[in-house]
Amino acid sequence: MNRLQLKHLTKRFGCLEVLHDVNLEIANGEFVVFVGPSGCGKSTLLRSIAGLENVTSGEIIIDGMRVNGVPPVRRGIAMVFQSYALYPHLNVFENIAFPLRVEHRPDSDVKKRVAAAAEILHLQERLYHKPGELSGGQRQRVAIGRAIVREPKIFLFDEPLSNLDAALRSNMRFELTKLHAELGATMIYVTHDQTEAMTMADKIVVMNSGKVEQIGGPIELYQRPANEFVASFIGSPK
Ligand code: ADP
Ligand code: MG
Repeated sequence: MNRLQLKHLTKRFGCLEVLHDVNLEIANGEFVVFVGPSGCGKSTLLRSIAGLENVTSGEIIIDGMRVNGVPPVRRGIAMVFQSYALYPHLNVFENIAFPLRVEHRPDSDVKKRVAAAAEILHLQERLYHKPGELSGGQRQRVAIGRAIVREPKIFLFDEPLSNLDAALRSNMRFELTKLHAELGATMIYVTHDQTEAMTMADKIVVMNSGKVEQIGGPIELYQRPANEFVASFIGSPK
């Protein structure tokens, strides 16, 4: 069974159609990258999957269940925001624990989950520091830790590395790929950066003007682009 299925998804803001008949199947454990130029609808698609936007028509199905209308917290999805979304006055432990505190989880459960996330992300030594005392990469890892503690069915990343410098970005790409292998989790990653798509994805979804142009593995897209857009977008050097 697919972890996530999108059927004929369409989203309009007034008369502006931002997503047009998007169809997609994602298997459990896949790392899928949505790539496309700025303004093509990537964030709107992620926000729709997360339940932060209502779609105009079509279906969103998670583990065989239609979730249109199901509130975000009940979809089993965690969205990773950019590192600047951390709370500056809370230490790393409480930043990671935040979603569990909101759910009033028992302290022992919170401690266990934060410790496990901190170990995966190599943040054990930083738990009692404030975000202001961390490097950019460490802050980004705290943002990811906040998603991990929720043990979501699907992780959503919306251009999480776009604030980081080139060296750190390439390092974080590697770490995210490793994290995916360790957790065996289903991850959807949005970027406008072709290099990120080609190096990280099991499967790439190329988007343009609210439409899916092609879905395939990195090599397949590179060798057999379905049309001119895919060829120029994936083929063009950064
Ligand atoms: P991307 O993430 O690929 O850059 P977005 O999903 O953010 O693209 O935006 C796609 C299009 O939808 C853009 O034209 C944007 O201006 C428009 N858009 C996004 N959110 C809204 C909104 N809340 N109201 C009106 N238009 C929006
Ligand atoms: Mg966006």
